[in-house]
Parts: sequence; C-alpha cells; structure tokens
Amino acid sequence: MPHRVKSPHPFLLLQTSMQSLFLHSLAFSPISQIYQEQVTPDSFAATPFDVLIIGGGTAGLTLANRLSATNTKVGVIDAGIYNTSGDPLLDVPFNPGAFIGDPTKTFYMDPAYDWSFFSVPQAHLDGRSIFYPRGKVLGGSSAINNLVWQRGAAYEYDNWGRLIDCDEWTFDELLPYFKKAENWTRPTNMLIDTLEPSPELAAAQGTSGHVQTSYNTFRTDIDVAFAEAFLNLGLPLSPNPDDGDSKFIAQAGSADSVDIQSGKRSYAAPAYYGPEVRSRDNLVVLEQAVVSRILWDETTLDTDAVRANAVEYIVNGTTYKVNVTREVILSAGSLKSPQVLELSGIGNPDVLEAAGVNVIVNSTGVGENMMDHLLLVTDFVVNDGVLTLDWLTNNETFLAEQRELFTSKGQGAFTYAGRLTAPIPMQDLASNGTAELQPLIDSLQADLDSRKSTPLHAAQHDLLKKMLDSGDIGFASPIALPRGGASGGPFDPNTNYVSLALYYMHEFSRGTVHVGSSDPEASPLIDPNFGDFQWDLDASRVGAQWLRKWAQTEPISEMISGPNFPPLNVTSDEDWDQFVKSTVGTISHPIGTAIMATRELGGVVDHRLKVYGTDNLRVVDASIIPLTVGAPIQQSVYAIAEKASDMIIADLNLSC
Ligand SMILES: Cc1cc2nc3c(=O)[nH]c(=O)nc-3n(C[C@H](O)[C@H](O)[C@H](O)COP(=O)(O)OP(=O)(O)OC[C@H]3O[C@@H](n4cnc5c(N)ncnc54)[C@H](O)[C@@H]3O)c2cc1C
Repeated sequence: MPHRVKSPHPFLLLQTSMQSLFLHSLAFSPISQIYQEQVTPDSFAATPFDVLIIGGGTAGLTLANRLSATNTKVGVIDAGIYNTSGDPLLDVPFNPGAFIGDPTKTFYMDPAYDWSFFSVPQAHLDGRSIFYPRGKVLGGSSAINNLVWQRGAAYEYDNWGRLIDCDEWTFDELLPYFKKAENWTRPTNMLIDTLEPSPELAAAQGTSGHVQTSYNTFRTDIDVAFAEAFLNLGLPLSPNPDDGDSKFIAQAGSADSVDIQSGKRSYAAPAYYGPEVRSRDNLVVLEQAVVSRILWDETTLDTDAVRANAVEYIVNGTTYKVNVTREVILSAGSLKSPQVLELSGIGNPDVLEAAGVNVIVNSTGVGENMMDHLLLVTDFVVNDGVLTLDWLTNNETFLAEQRELFTSKGQGAFTYAGRLTAPIPMQDLASNGTAELQPLIDSLQADLDSRKSTPLHAAQHDLLKKMLDSGDIGFASPIALPRGGASGGPFDPNTNYVSLALYYMHEFSRGTVHVGSSDPEASPLIDPNFGDFQWDLDASRVGAQWLRKWAQTEPISEMISGPNFPPLNVTSDEDWDQFVKSTVGTISHPIGTAIMATRELGGVVDHRLKVYGTDNLRVVDASIIPLTVGAPIQQSVYAIAEKASDMIIADLNLSC
C-alpha cells in the first residue's frame, strides 16, 4: 500500500511561520452584509424558474448576469455565500493573511471558502494524494485563484473546433468574448523601463467588460532582473501575447484580474453580480444550498432527448425541489459537474450502477478525459537587502507602509499578482535544444504507439504531438514569485526568498472524476492520473532544470545566494526526476470532465454545450474544455460563458 500524504501543496498555502499581529480590516466594512438574505430554501422552491443555473461560480454568475438581462426568470443555486460588503481574505490579491494581521490565515482548507478536495493516491507519484482547492463561494474558483489573466495560443483554441468538428469554436470566434469579459487597463510600467507598450496590445483587449484587468504597478527588485536574465538566455519578451501567439514573457508582464482603482481582486461575484444585477426581479440566487440532482419529465424518459423539469437541493439536511420550465444549466466546475450529472443518471452505466443510481442517459464520457496543468516549485535564497514580498512578513515597517498604501490608495505590495509567467516551447527550455529533447520525444512516441487509445485520446494526442513538434507553442510556464515558503523546502521566516515555479500545460495523461457513492455531499473520486505518460514528468523535469539555469543567469544571479529547495546537490537527471516525482502537484486548472466533442469521439456536450441525449440540459464551465490551453484558464472560462450566454439567448429566443 503506497504511503498516502494528505497535505495541501505548499505553493497554494504560501505558508509563513510569523505570529499573528493584530486584526486589520481597514479597507473593509466590519459589518458582514449578506445579500438576498430574504431568499430561503422554501421561497426559492415556491416558484418555477425558466432557467436554473447550478453553481454561481465563474461561469455561473456570468450566465446569470447575461440571461437575467433578458425577459427570462433565472434562478441560481450555490453552496457558498457572497459577502457584498467585502472580505479581505478574498479581495486582497497578495498575502491577505498578512494584511489582516494573521499571516497564517488563508482561504485554503477553510470550509467557508474552499471545497478542499484531495485526489485519490497517485500511482505514478509514490502514492501521494494531491490537494485540489475549489472556490465554495459565489464567484467560485475565481474568488480564490492566483489572479493571472492570460489567453492561450490561437492554435490551441482552434483545436477545440477540430474536436467538435465545428468552426464556432476557434480563437477567432472566441476573441470577441475574451474582449467582452474584460475591462482592460493599459500597463503603466513595463518589465524593462526602456520598452513602451506595443500599439497592437490594446487592439486585442476589451475595455467595457465586467472583469477588471490590469498589470502590477508594484515592482520588486527582482522582477526587472528576471526579465533581463530571460533576455540574456536568448529568449525574447513578447510585445503582444493576447492576439494568438501567447509564447514568451510579455513586455509588460502578464495581466491580472485586479481592479486598478481599488487594488482588489476582480472576480465573478463583484464583476457580474453587482448591485444593479442583484436588484433585478427576475434573478434569484439561493446561497448555501447543495444541488443533489436534476429531475426528469417521466414522459420523456424513453426518448432520445430526456427533459429536465426540476432540480433537487439540500440545505441543512433537508431536501427541496424547484421546478424548471425551460433549461437547466450545470456550472458546478470540472470536479462537481460530473458528479451532478452522474447523480442525475447521466454517465457510464457501470459507474452509475455501482453508485446505486438509475441510468437515464448512457454517456460514457462523463467524468472521463480529465486534464490539468502540473505544478512544481523550487526556491532560492535572496541576498540581504534585496526587496522581496517576504518583507511583508519579516519587516514590520514595510508591512505598515504597504498596509497604509493599500488601504488609502489601493496600491503597493498587497496588489501584487503573478507577473513573470508565460508559456515557453519545450525546445527553448531544454538545455541542448532538440539534442536533449529528441530522445524524450522518441520515448513519448513509443509510449503513444504502444497504447490502445480511445478515439478521443488518439485525436487529442495527435493534436498535442503536432504542437510539441512545431516548437512554436508554449508547453510549460515558469513563474517567478518574489517570496518564499511555497516550495515545501526549509523555510526561515527571517530570510528572503524567490520561488521559481513551473507548470506543465499539455499533459498526455488523462484522469477521471466519478462519484464514489450516491451521497451528493461526499467528495467525488478525483484521479488526475498524473505521470501516466512518463513524458509529462520528463517535460516537468526539463522545465525544473531550466528554472535553476534562469536563476543562475545575470543579472538575477547577483541577487541570489543559492538554491534552497531542491538543494545544490540535486544535479543529475535522476536527482531531478525524483524531485519532480516527490513534489509535483496541480496548479488547479482541471478541465475536460464533461467534454465538448463529437458524439463519435465520446463527447458529453455538443457544440451548443447541450448534453447529448437531453433536450434542455447544458454544461457551461471548465469541464467542457476539449483540450488543454497553454495558459491559466479563468479568461477562457469567462469567454466560454459569455459565448454560451449568446447561444442560449438565441436558442431560447429570449429578448431584452
Ligand atoms: C487555487 C486556484 C488557483 C487558480 N489560479 C488561476 C489563475 O491564476 N489564473 C487563471 O486563469 N485561472 C486560475 N485558476 C483556475 C480558474 O480559476 C478556474 O478554472 C475557473 O474559475 C473555473 O470556473 P468554473 O465556472 O468552471 O468553476 P467554479 O468557478 O469553481 O464554479 C463552480 C461553482 O459551483 C458551485 N458548486 C459546485 N457544486 C455545487 C453543488 N452541488 N451545489 C451547489 N453549488 C455547487 C461552487 O460552489 C462554485 O461556486 C485557479 C483555480 C484555483 C482553484
């Protein structure tokens, strides 16, 4: 029996050992004002909705906003709440714990914010269980994510169209929706001062959307040095990563979902569920309720398009039912949407029968095809006197200044979000280019040839392999984060660190998410199956070795005294392989578990996101994404939901 380790990935917890200071909630009202408190489980059940959205997360609230702007009555059910007077733990972009005076405080593993899932023990990772945080508040995972705001490459989105055999899902078709979602603010400083923002950059952005996006205005000493070291490694800075060629660090750094005016996180709840939307009579949101299943019109059960007519939900152990006249939209996210489908009788009959659920629609793709981005984190000790964000936890003068700056102007270190991160092709990360990479790629090909893949996996692998061979698509993203305590290695609170992480974005392995029982409140069985293809771990190792090379390049090398974790004696490929195997986790971008693909390929939803075999059930969230994108995925999820809103308005003939 492999040893099972159950602890969150340290990168996510961003732990520090500093003791509590004092409670600061300067920028926030102390009174917790929960909206819609008049909505009760009974009142919600009393009137039927035209459209019922399961999950008020990133996609769910986008849909709620757009659909309730029409003449339709919309209901939303979410397990979490929204504190409309603000919550510093969610709103402060960087180290909110330090801001409120308790650097150990975080939303991770807190049941008021996080579903806190763990994977099953991973067969290829020494039996470790991987921590899967998921937002359990209105706004969903956009409320607890790392705020990086990026798009992938055009080719990656065009792959979606290839798998659904439809040109409605291409980069060009999605571009208007990327723009529709965002209110972009021009960068005020570039990573290197002599650069100016390219005129084309603005053309790829939207400036009237709901999600506020901007670039860090706060720079630490090492940000510039890392950008210069990147250039010294012979890699370019990209003038415009948002118009389809996403590779290489952007000249302005990556954008973030941060409101430039307030310095606060911009996420789905404040963005799409503001005061005007909350006041709409035709939108009702029920909080703190867990949907258990979708119910069906009995007269349609023997047809090839079963019809949803109600949704069942649980509040404090009591089960309620609300009727739905037109559509049910499932937006519970990649780890919960397959669970709701299966508990509603849609899935693989073997899985359903084992869980004691009657089969309504035989759909073997439900809960299959899970894809994710793998994360590993290294860190380095920084020389004394170099400004990093560790100063927030080991320098009280700096902390006080930055608190004041955030509170009075919405600026400073507490607004910091990932800036130095970008997809890089494997050929640019390998130390000897193709000479190092080719044997690994040959092994990958042999692995692919030896497997009996499903038609879907074969099609996906073919597309991934083409991208890999092209050398023109980013496969792994380095992240430079100017603070320590994230690698899981030794940590001294009085030392300053820089963490260099890498996330590998185009895994060949495929995992699953299925129900383990008929209990809707039980965690689904999550098996990302990381490392099933050795290539995924090999590529992560190549990237990890490149991180050390980056840190050893001038001028950043002059600010770093040496590696902390893994230590300097980790040098051989075998050492690095072991490091990867024993530390790799997830950066929390699971997708594909209710996949959009043709029915022949085993898809779960069609090109209008309707569940095959149903008349009026759609899935709209990250679980429909048919193939990995080389970027964090929130911007893609918002764009999917914006596009789906237009589709639903057209299909249901709704008017404003
Ligand atoms: C820790 C973390 C860091 C991340 N960092 C980044 C980043 O920096 N940049 C980026 O682009 N992306 C990032 N992501 C990914 C991105 O935030 C998510 O992929 C995206 O928000 C998912 O949107 P969704 O609508 O699919 O699901 P969610 O936003 O998770 O919404 C699902 C909603 O459904 C609700 N729900 C689920 N089941 C039920 C049920 N049975 N009954 C009632 N309600 C239910 C949940 O409470 C939740 O509100 C990160 C994600 C995480 C978790």
